[in-house]
Amino acid sequence: MTTTSAATATTVAVRLTAPGRLDPTPVAAPGPGPGEVLVRVTAVGLCGTDLAVRSGARPVPELPWTVGHEGGGRVVAVGAGVDPGRVGEVVVVEPNIGCGRCRFCTAGRTSACPDRRSLGVSVPGLLTGLVAVPGGHAHALPAGLDPATAERVVACVEPWVVTRAAVRRAAPEPGSRCLVVGAGSQGTLLCLTLLAAGYVPVVAEPHEGRRRRALRLGAEELVPGEVFGTVFETSGAPAAWPTATAAVDRAGTLLLIGQHDGPSPVNTHDLVQRQVTVTGSLIYDHPYDFTAALADLPAVADALVGLMEPEPFGIERAAAAFDAVAGADRKVWLTP
Ligand SMILES: [Zn+2]
Ligand SMILES: [Zn+2]
Repeated sequence: MTTTSAATATTVAVRLTAPGRLDPTPVAAPGPGPGEVLVRVTAVGLCGTDLAVRSGARPVPELPWTVGHEGGGRVVAVGAGVDPGRVGEVVVVEPNIGCGRCRFCTAGRTSACPDRRSLGVSVPGLLTGLVAVPGGHAHALPAGLDPATAERVVACVEPWVVTRAAVRRAAPEPGSRCLVVGAGSQGTLLCLTLLAAGYVPVVAEPHEGRRRRALRLGAEELVPGEVFGTVFETSGAPAAWPTATAAVDRAGTLLLIGQHDGPSPVNTHDLVQRQVTVTGSLIYDHPYDFTAALADLPAVADALVGLMEPEPFGIERAAAAFDAVAGADRKVWLTP
Protein backbone atom coordinates (compact mmCIF):
# COMPACT_ATOMS: atom_id res chain seq x y z
CA MET A 1 0.00 0.00 0.00
CA THR A 2 1.33 3.44 -0.83
CA THR A 3 0.58 6.69 0.93
CA THR A 4 -1.50 7.85 -2.03
CA SER A 5 -3.79 4.84 -2.22
CA ALA A 6 -4.27 4.82 1.56
CA ALA A 7 -5.38 8.44 1.44
CA THR A 8 -8.14 7.66 -1.05
CA ALA A 9 -9.33 4.43 0.62
CA THR A 10 -11.93 4.02 3.31
CA THR A 11 -11.78 2.12 6.56
CA VAL A 12 -14.23 1.32 9.35
CA ALA A 13 -13.98 3.09 12.70
CA VAL A 14 -15.92 2.39 15.90
CA ARG A 15 -17.43 5.76 16.68
CA LEU A 16 -19.33 7.07 19.64
CA THR A 17 -22.34 8.76 18.03
CA ALA A 18 -24.23 9.62 21.23
CA PRO A 19 -23.53 8.85 24.91
CA GLY A 20 -23.88 5.08 25.28
CA ARG A 21 -24.05 4.43 21.55
CA LEU A 22 -21.24 2.96 19.40
CA ASP A 23 -21.54 2.56 15.64
CA PRO A 24 -19.03 0.96 13.29
CA THR A 25 -18.83 3.63 10.60
CA PRO A 26 -17.06 3.79 7.22
CA VAL A 27 -14.65 6.74 7.25
CA ALA A 28 -11.99 8.06 4.89
CA ALA A 29 -8.69 6.34 5.62
CA PRO A 30 -6.08 8.79 6.87
CA GLY A 31 -2.76 9.35 5.15
CA PRO A 32 0.35 9.59 7.32
CA GLY A 33 1.35 13.21 7.88
CA PRO A 34 4.97 14.31 8.31
CA GLY A 35 6.63 12.27 11.03
CA GLU A 36 3.73 9.83 11.19
CA VAL A 37 3.29 6.17 10.41
CA LEU A 38 0.07 4.67 9.08
CA VAL A 39 -0.89 1.55 11.04
CA ARG A 40 -3.27 -1.20 9.97
CA VAL A 41 -4.69 -1.94 13.40
CA THR A 42 -4.66 -5.62 14.41
CA ALA A 43 -5.80 -5.57 18.04
CA VAL A 44 -7.33 -3.07 20.47
CA GLY A 45 -7.99 -3.83 24.14
CA LEU A 46 -10.73 -2.26 26.24
CA CYS A 47 -10.50 -0.90 29.77
CA GLY A 48 -12.51 1.21 32.20
CA THR A 49 -11.48 4.41 30.43
CA ASP A 50 -13.22 3.20 27.26
CA LEU A 51 -16.37 2.42 29.24
CA ALA A 52 -16.29 5.92 30.73
CA VAL A 53 -15.93 7.40 27.24
CA ARG A 54 -18.86 5.35 25.99
CA SER A 55 -21.16 6.30 28.85
CA GLY A 56 -20.32 9.98 28.58
CA ALA A 57 -18.82 10.05 32.09
CA ARG A 58 -15.56 10.99 30.41
CA PRO A 59 -16.55 13.71 27.91
CA VAL A 60 -14.84 13.74 24.50
CA PRO A 61 -14.26 16.85 22.36
CA GLU A 62 -16.89 16.05 19.71
CA LEU A 63 -19.31 13.49 18.33
CA PRO A 64 -18.99 11.25 16.43
CA TRP A 65 -15.79 10.16 18.16
CA THR A 66 -13.39 7.29 17.40
CA VAL A 67 -12.69 5.38 20.62
CA GLY A 68 -9.88 3.07 21.79
CA HIS A 69 -6.39 3.61 23.18
CA GLU A 70 -4.77 0.22 23.91
CA GLY A 71 -3.49 -1.34 20.72
CA GLY A 72 -1.34 -1.40 17.65
CA GLY A 73 -0.82 -3.20 14.40
CA ARG A 74 1.33 -3.26 11.32
CA VAL A 75 2.89 -0.20 9.67
CA VAL A 76 1.65 0.04 6.07
CA ALA A 77 2.94 3.49 5.05
CA VAL A 78 5.11 6.28 6.44
CA GLY A 79 4.96 10.05 6.16
CA ALA A 80 7.73 12.47 5.28
CA GLY A 81 10.77 12.20 7.49
CA VAL A 82 10.11 8.64 8.62
CA ASP A 83 12.37 5.74 7.59
CA PRO A 84 10.52 3.83 4.81
CA GLY A 85 12.15 0.70 6.25
CA ARG A 86 9.54 0.87 9.03
CA VAL A 87 6.83 -0.44 6.68
CA GLY A 88 6.01 -3.96 7.83
CA GLU A 89 6.91 -3.39 11.49
CA VAL A 90 4.44 -4.57 14.13
CA VAL A 91 4.06 -1.63 16.49
CA VAL A 92 2.31 -0.85 19.73
CA VAL A 93 0.98 2.68 20.01
CA GLU A 94 1.90 4.76 23.05
CA PRO A 95 -1.41 6.61 23.25
CA ASN A 96 -0.40 9.52 25.48
CA ILE A 97 1.50 12.25 23.70
CA GLY A 98 3.13 15.04 25.68
CA CYS A 99 3.55 18.53 24.23
CA GLY A 100 7.33 18.07 24.23
CA ARG A 101 7.92 21.68 25.30
CA CYS A 102 6.66 22.21 28.86
CA ARG A 103 8.83 21.92 31.99
CA PHE A 104 7.53 18.42 32.65
CA CYS A 105 8.11 17.09 29.13
CA THR A 106 11.60 18.60 28.93
CA ALA A 107 12.42 17.00 32.29
CA GLY A 108 11.25 13.58 31.02
CA ARG A 109 8.04 13.53 33.08
CA THR A 110 5.67 13.52 30.10
CA SER A 111 2.93 11.92 32.21
CA ALA A 112 2.58 15.24 34.07
CA CYS A 113 2.26 17.34 30.88
CA PRO A 114 -0.77 19.64 31.23
CA ASP A 115 -1.21 19.64 27.44
CA ARG A 116 -0.87 15.90 26.99
CA ARG A 117 -3.03 14.46 24.19
CA SER A 118 -4.63 11.05 24.74
CA LEU A 119 -5.77 8.87 21.87
CA GLY A 120 -9.41 7.89 22.21
CA VAL A 121 -9.99 10.54 24.87
CA SER A 122 -8.79 13.95 23.65
CA VAL A 123 -7.70 13.02 20.11
CA PRO A 124 -9.37 10.34 17.93
CA GLY A 125 -8.58 6.78 18.97
CA LEU A 126 -7.30 3.47 17.68
CA LEU A 127 -10.46 1.44 17.16
CA THR A 128 -10.37 1.82 13.41
CA GLY A 129 -8.90 -0.13 10.53
CA LEU A 130 -6.19 2.41 9.70
CA VAL A 131 -4.77 5.08 11.98
CA ALA A 132 -1.97 7.63 11.54
CA VAL A 133 0.13 8.18 14.67
CA PRO A 134 3.44 9.93 15.43
CA GLY A 135 6.30 7.65 14.45
CA GLY A 136 8.00 8.16 17.81
CA HIS A 137 4.89 6.91 19.61
CA ALA A 138 4.59 3.76 17.45
CA HIS A 139 7.09 1.40 19.06
CA ALA A 140 8.31 -1.60 17.09
CA LEU A 141 7.92 -4.91 18.87
CA PRO A 142 11.18 -6.82 19.28
CA ALA A 143 12.25 -9.05 16.44
CA GLY A 144 11.89 -12.71 17.24
CA LEU A 145 8.34 -12.58 18.59
CA ASP A 146 6.03 -14.91 16.72
CA PRO A 147 4.10 -12.61 14.30
CA ALA A 148 0.66 -13.87 15.39
CA THR A 149 1.57 -13.27 19.04
CA ALA A 150 2.94 -9.83 18.21
CA GLU A 151 -0.19 -8.72 16.35
CA ARG A 152 -2.34 -9.88 19.28
CA VAL A 153 -0.32 -8.86 22.33
CA VAL A 154 -0.35 -5.19 21.26
CA ALA A 155 -3.83 -5.03 22.85
CA CYS A 156 -2.31 -5.71 26.27
CA VAL A 157 1.00 -3.84 26.23
CA GLU A 158 -0.17 -0.35 27.24
CA PRO A 159 -1.79 -1.30 30.58
CA TRP A 160 1.21 -3.54 31.29
CA VAL A 161 3.54 -0.55 30.78
CA VAL A 162 1.39 1.39 33.28
CA THR A 163 2.23 -1.22 35.92
CA ARG A 164 5.93 -1.20 35.02
CA ALA A 165 6.06 2.57 35.45
CA ALA A 166 4.39 2.18 38.86
CA VAL A 167 7.07 -0.28 39.97
CA ARG A 168 9.83 1.95 38.61
CA ARG A 169 8.48 4.93 40.54
CA ALA A 170 7.89 3.01 43.77
CA ALA A 171 11.37 1.44 43.52
CA PRO A 172 10.77 -1.35 46.05
CA GLU A 173 13.78 -2.97 47.66
CA PRO A 174 15.06 -5.60 45.19
CA GLY A 175 13.51 -9.00 45.76
CA SER A 176 11.13 -7.71 48.42
CA ARG A 177 7.58 -8.81 49.12
CA CYS A 178 5.12 -6.17 47.83
CA LEU A 179 1.43 -5.92 48.58
CA VAL A 180 -0.95 -5.51 45.63
CA VAL A 181 -4.36 -4.32 46.81
CA GLY A 182 -6.97 -5.27 44.22
CA ALA A 183 -6.50 -7.97 41.59
CA GLY A 184 -8.55 -6.56 38.73
CA SER A 185 -6.86 -6.15 35.38
CA GLN A 186 -4.31 -3.60 36.64
CA GLY A 187 -3.59 -5.59 39.80
CA THR A 188 -3.12 -8.78 37.79
CA LEU A 189 -0.75 -7.11 35.34
CA LEU A 190 1.13 -5.61 38.30
CA CYS A 191 1.59 -9.09 39.79
CA LEU A 192 3.04 -10.23 36.47
CA THR A 193 5.37 -7.23 36.36
CA LEU A 194 6.55 -7.78 39.94
CA LEU A 195 7.17 -11.48 39.36
CA ALA A 196 9.14 -10.80 36.18
CA ALA A 197 11.32 -8.32 38.07
CA GLY A 198 12.10 -10.71 40.93
CA TYR A 199 9.68 -9.38 43.55
CA VAL A 200 7.14 -11.43 45.49
CA PRO A 201 3.63 -10.04 44.94
CA VAL A 202 1.15 -10.63 47.75
CA VAL A 203 -2.50 -9.91 46.92
CA ALA A 204 -5.42 -8.56 48.90
CA GLU A 205 -8.58 -9.11 46.84
CA PRO A 206 -12.02 -9.94 48.23
CA HIS A 207 -13.36 -11.33 44.92
CA GLU A 208 -12.48 -15.01 44.94
CA GLY A 209 -12.15 -15.47 41.17
CA ARG A 210 -9.78 -12.54 40.81
CA ARG A 211 -7.77 -13.61 43.85
CA ARG A 212 -7.39 -17.14 42.47
CA ARG A 213 -6.27 -15.80 39.10
CA ALA A 214 -3.49 -13.81 40.80
CA LEU A 215 -2.47 -16.83 42.88
CA ARG A 216 -2.32 -18.97 39.73
CA LEU A 217 0.10 -16.43 38.25
CA GLY A 218 2.38 -16.92 41.26
CA ALA A 219 1.25 -14.26 43.71
CA GLU A 220 0.80 -15.12 47.40
CA GLU A 221 -2.25 -14.48 49.54
CA LEU A 222 -2.14 -11.77 52.21
CA VAL A 223 -1.85 -13.02 55.76
CA PRO A 224 -3.36 -10.32 58.00
CA GLY A 225 -0.70 -8.58 60.08
CA GLU A 226 2.14 -8.69 57.54
CA VAL A 227 3.53 -5.28 56.64
CA PHE A 228 5.32 -4.25 53.45
CA GLY A 229 7.87 -1.64 52.46
CA THR A 230 5.82 -1.04 49.32
CA VAL A 231 2.06 -1.30 48.90
CA PHE A 232 0.35 -0.76 45.53
CA GLU A 233 -3.33 0.24 45.65
CA THR A 234 -4.90 -0.71 42.30
CA SER A 235 -8.62 -0.91 43.09
CA GLY A 236 -9.46 2.74 43.69
CA ALA A 237 -12.16 1.52 46.08
CA PRO A 238 -12.43 3.59 49.27
CA ALA A 239 -13.22 0.32 51.08
CA ALA A 240 -9.71 -0.91 50.26
CA TRP A 241 -7.99 2.08 51.88
CA PRO A 242 -7.85 0.70 55.45
CA THR A 243 -6.23 -2.54 54.21
CA ALA A 244 -3.74 -0.63 52.07
CA THR A 245 -2.67 1.85 54.74
CA ALA A 246 -2.51 -0.66 57.58
CA ALA A 247 -0.18 -2.89 55.57
CA VAL A 248 2.48 -0.22 54.90
CA ASP A 249 5.57 -0.64 57.04
CA ARG A 250 7.08 2.27 58.95
CA ALA A 251 8.83 4.62 56.48
CA GLY A 252 7.22 2.63 53.66
CA THR A 253 5.54 3.70 50.44
CA LEU A 254 1.90 3.51 49.45
CA LEU A 255 1.64 3.97 45.70
CA LEU A 256 -1.80 4.63 44.24
CA ILE A 257 -2.78 3.48 40.76
CA GLY A 258 -6.51 3.01 41.33
CA GLN A 259 -8.62 6.16 41.32
CA HIS A 260 -11.87 7.20 42.91
CA ASP A 261 -13.57 10.57 42.53
CA GLY A 262 -14.96 10.74 46.03
CA PRO A 263 -13.12 11.21 49.32
CA SER A 264 -11.27 8.35 51.00
CA PRO A 265 -10.81 8.33 54.78
CA VAL A 266 -7.26 9.35 55.74
CA ASN A 267 -5.83 9.16 59.25
CA THR A 268 -3.04 11.73 59.02
CA HIS A 269 -1.90 11.03 62.58
CA ASP A 270 -1.21 7.43 61.58
CA LEU A 271 0.53 8.32 58.30
CA VAL A 272 2.75 10.95 59.95
CA GLN A 273 3.63 8.82 62.93
CA ARG A 274 4.69 5.97 60.69
CA GLN A 275 6.24 8.33 58.07
CA VAL A 276 4.38 6.73 55.18
CA THR A 277 5.00 8.15 51.71
CA VAL A 278 1.77 8.29 49.70
CA THR A 279 2.22 8.88 45.99
CA GLY A 280 0.12 8.71 42.83
CA SER A 281 1.36 7.02 39.68
CA LEU A 282 -0.21 8.01 36.36
CA ILE A 283 0.53 6.16 33.11
CA TYR A 284 4.21 6.23 32.00
CA ASP A 285 6.89 8.61 30.75
CA HIS A 286 7.98 8.94 27.14
CA PRO A 287 9.93 7.30 25.69
CA TYR A 288 11.65 5.44 28.51
CA ASP A 289 8.86 3.27 29.86
CA PHE A 290 7.72 1.84 26.51
CA THR A 291 11.27 1.38 25.26
CA ALA A 292 12.33 -0.50 28.38
CA ALA A 293 9.12 -2.55 28.43
CA LEU A 294 9.48 -3.70 24.84
CA ALA A 295 13.01 -4.92 25.49
CA ASP A 296 11.53 -7.18 28.18
CA LEU A 297 8.41 -8.16 26.21
CA PRO A 298 9.63 -11.52 24.80
CA ALA A 299 9.92 -12.91 28.33
CA VAL A 300 6.29 -12.09 29.21
CA ALA A 301 4.46 -12.02 25.86
CA ASP A 302 2.88 -15.45 26.34
CA ALA A 303 1.80 -14.59 29.87
CA LEU A 304 0.22 -11.35 28.62
CA VAL A 305 -1.64 -13.20 25.86
CA GLY A 306 -2.84 -15.61 28.53
CA LEU A 307 -4.54 -12.68 30.27
CA MET A 308 -6.51 -11.86 27.10
CA GLU A 309 -9.76 -13.44 25.96
CA PRO A 310 -8.85 -16.25 23.54
CA GLU A 311 -10.81 -14.68 20.68
CA PRO A 312 -11.30 -11.05 19.68
CA PHE A 313 -14.60 -9.37 18.96
CA GLY A 314 -15.02 -8.24 15.38
CA ILE A 315 -15.46 -4.51 14.89
CA GLU A 316 -19.16 -5.00 13.99
CA ARG A 317 -19.69 -6.34 17.54
CA ALA A 318 -18.07 -3.39 19.27
CA ALA A 319 -21.07 -2.68 21.48
CA ALA A 320 -21.13 -6.33 22.64
CA ALA A 321 -17.41 -6.15 23.36
CA PHE A 322 -17.91 -3.10 25.59
CA ASP A 323 -20.80 -4.86 27.34
CA ALA A 324 -18.55 -7.87 28.00
CA VAL A 325 -15.80 -5.93 29.82
CA ALA A 326 -17.41 -5.75 33.27
CA GLY A 327 -18.04 -9.49 33.59
CA ALA A 328 -14.95 -10.75 31.78
CA ASP A 329 -12.15 -12.64 33.52
CA ARG A 330 -9.68 -11.63 30.87
CA LYS A 331 -8.89 -8.65 28.67
CA VAL A 332 -11.63 -8.06 26.09
CA TRP A 333 -10.19 -7.03 22.74
CA LEU A 334 -11.24 -6.35 19.19
CA THR A 335 -9.80 -6.80 15.75
CA PRO A 336 -10.85 -3.99 13.39
ZN1 LIG B 1 -6.76 1.68 29.20
ZN1 LIG C 1 4.38 18.92 27.96
